[in-house]
Amino acid sequence: MLPADPKTMALRHLFLLQERAKLLAPSLRANCATWRLSHSLRDQTQSSSAPARDHPIYTEEHFALRDSLRKIIDKEINPFVDKWEEEGQFPAHQVFKSLGKAGFLGVNKPTEYGGLGLDYSYCIAVAEELGNIRCGGVPMAIGVQADMATPALARFGSDELKREFLAPTIAGDVVACLGVSEPGAGSDVASIKTKAVRKGDDYNINGGKMWITNGCQADWMCLLANTSDGPPHKNKSLLCLPMKTSGVHIAKKIDKMGMRSSDTAQIFFEDVRVPSKYLIGEEGMGFIYQMLQFQEERMWGVANVLVPLENIIQETINYTRQRKIFNQPIIQKQIVHFRLAELATEVELLRSLLYRAVALYIHGNDVTKFASMAKLKAGYLAREVPDSCLQFWGGMGFTNEVLVSRLYRDLRLLSIGAGADEVMLSIICKHMDILPKQQQA
Ligand SMILES: Cc1cc2nc3c(=O)[nH]c(=O)nc-3n(C[C@H](O)[C@H](O)[C@H](O)COP(=O)(O)OP(=O)(O)OC[C@H]3O[C@@H](n4cnc5c(N)ncnc54)[C@H](O)[C@@H]3O)c2cc1C
Repeated sequence: MLPADPKTMALRHLFLLQERAKLLAPSLRANCATWRLSHSLRDQTQSSSAPARDHPIYTEEHFALRDSLRKIIDKEINPFVDKWEEEGQFPAHQVFKSLGKAGFLGVNKPTEYGGLGLDYSYCIAVAEELGNIRCGGVPMAIGVQADMATPALARFGSDELKREFLAPTIAGDVVACLGVSEPGAGSDVASIKTKAVRKGDDYNINGGKMWITNGCQADWMCLLANTSDGPPHKNKSLLCLPMKTSGVHIAKKIDKMGMRSSDTAQIFFEDVRVPSKYLIGEEGMGFIYQMLQFQEERMWGVANVLVPLENIIQETINYTRQRKIFNQPIIQKQIVHFRLAELATEVELLRSLLYRAVALYIHGNDVTKFASMAKLKAGYLAREVPDSCLQFWGGMGFTNEVLVSRLYRDLRLLSIGAGADEVMLSIICKHMDILPKQQQA
């Protein structure tokens, strides 16, 4: 076949762009004003359907989305982060409203409910950009709202449920939280004790949840509870629980070493009644739905830590360039510049593994192994990078005035939350068929 002449190619290119614009238009135009503006500006000059020349998975649209988000971060979030960290809470309703209006809380959610209808790689781009927020707490809270409390509802919830809970969450009119962990069950999700017993047209809920991000401010919880006495992987269900319901008690706001601006609650349920129509999907499928939610939560967590790690490395480069010891900038010591080069290499490796997992995931593959490997490595680097860099700041690194010390505390969570490092290792071992039978059970 002869190659097409330049005019035919240009027309084909234009046609493809128009088709793509038609597909994206309803959601983007309706939901994302700032994104739309930069998108249309870029569209006039370049193709956006293929990955950008300098990126393995992001197109120009991903970059445009990130640019728009960066503007909100710089104007409406970063100037207030120090204050929120001091106060031990950020105004979730205010921040989420602003992000919701711009479309950032429903990037891959269906357009019927106000989402942008894009694939998961766009959520990853957003998670990466959120890493430019100068603390860990606020991005984590946004992640819970957009990518951790809602995937199962969006996938398996009834239309009525999605209209009542998903649409206002995407719009940023309400704050969501995810209730899985309990005082006696974190890593071992199957052993949760909270019960939701069917009584007529209602579920009657008793029990409690621990470590609930957004818990003090949330309007509703995506709750994992036991709905029968069957085997632990088949007796659980996910329910939408309005937090204003009688019998829901916020027992306390947990005082944490890091993630200070994010509120974390312990919550009790005492004969809480919710209508049975608040069940997400099928009864007994909650454990499976939650495991699926975890896949996205883990990739989100990896994406969200990349920029903070890079920022710490860059700020350490800047500091050690100007700070002199023994008449020489610190960075000229080989142990310093070699270490910074090592850390940057590790972060790039993590980035590559994440993009591989995401590329496979958006084409419908099971990426449990790669997502777990990436989460494990991210947990390690979230400790290693701030620790190594903090050392080069000397006493300054030990103050509360620099990003590296805040992230030293905040990023420590990544090795614990959303499945501890050891849980990731168990999953990887299972995929390698080297996990002892007893532990598999
Ligand atoms: C700030 C913060 C926010 C959180 N937000 C939420 C939220 O919004 N919603 C929610 O449901 N939960 C949330 N969590 C809970 C979090 O997911 C759990 O802390 C986590 O799953 C670990 O559970 P755990 O704390 O009970 O630790 P445990 O389960 O008691 O585990 C303790 C340690 O045991 C080790 N361990 C675990 N499994 C294995 C194994 N298989 N082999 C060997 N060693 C192992 C690990 O070192 C682990 O850290 C949050 C936690 C924190 C700290």
